[in-house]
Amino acid sequence: MSIRSLSPSSAALWSQCPRRWWFRYVDRLPEPPPGEPAVLGTFVHRILEVLLAEPADERTLERARAVARAVWPQVEASPDWVALELDETGGRRFRQRAWATVEAYFSRVTPAEVTAVACELEVQAEVAGVPFRGFVDLVEAAPGSAADEVRPDADAAGGPADTPAVIVTDYKTGRPPEQGRPWSAERDAERLLQPQWYAAALAALGTHRPVQARLLYFTAVEGRGVQRFAGATGELSAPVTTESLAAAGAELRRRWDEITTALERGDVESRPGPLCGWCPFVAECAAGQAECHRRWQSRNTYTGGRQLRDDAPAVALLGLDGRQPVPA
Ligand code: SF4
Repeated sequence: MSIRSLSPSSAALWSQCPRRWWFRYVDRLPEPPPGEPAVLGTFVHRILEVLLAEPADERTLERARAVARAVWPQVEASPDWVALELDETGGRRFRQRAWATVEAYFSRVTPAEVTAVACELEVQAEVAGVPFRGFVDLVEAAPGSAADEVRPDADAAGGPADTPAVIVTDYKTGRPPEQGRPWSAERDAERLLQPQWYAAALAALGTHRPVQARLLYFTAVEGRGVQRFAGATGELSAPVTTESLAAAGAELRRRWDEITTALERGDVESRPGPLCGWCPFVAECAAGQAECHRRWQSRNTYTGGRQLRDDAPAVALLGLDGRQPVPA
């Protein structure tokens, strides 16, 4: 068994838990269809992709609403939407939440000021000797630059100096990460690997000259009173430098080497942790089940609550709450 390429999601999953990676990519165990957040994210990504293809002065909230209406039939026709099995009220709430997410984006970004060089760009490149592939949500001209501008004097991190200076952005339609916790910096660095890998791929291709890697968070959270949803936004970004590209490439290479070694050996380790409660393969994994039981019985030092949330799928799947276990 071998793998042909490594995507950011595959590399991230490997780091989270090699056993989970193995279940998905080697054993190819069936997984439940993507849940509501993933379907909503796809819908919102598509709205923004179409919106940013419009002339700058037409990228208004009203135009976004028209785009949402035009795109909606594609969502409704998708198997992932059908699998959600939402009733009329649930469907209406889904659309309200999706729209509130778009409004949150508008509260953070002025789309008319975005010089989109490419949206949903597929990149395939060799990064540190690793065949890498993925989709970049947005490649936009860096401020002071332009998509077709030549800046031979710029401090290029990658790519020829006469290629456009760009910001590489990945959208996240989930809550912005917590800041200021002892573990925040380490987790932020891990999160930023994704746009840094995209930046490394663009630099390797020489088509663009990335100068910034960014994660743009915008989401809708439950509102209070008559307000159904409220927007929440955030951003993580880091400059793209020769050093950052080398570090991102080295980390990709390290994971690739671990994966190829594990494939040769025919086995991997389990890495139990807080995400076992959301792992679709927990019913197949003794280490994950032990972790879920332990967390269910423990108290969180900060909140006093259980270390495993009541709504974690593993709670029902393993019958941790005393109910009959739900079949996987
Ligand atoms: S249950 Fe936990 S340890 Fe087991 S595969 Fe899933 S994430 Fe890894």
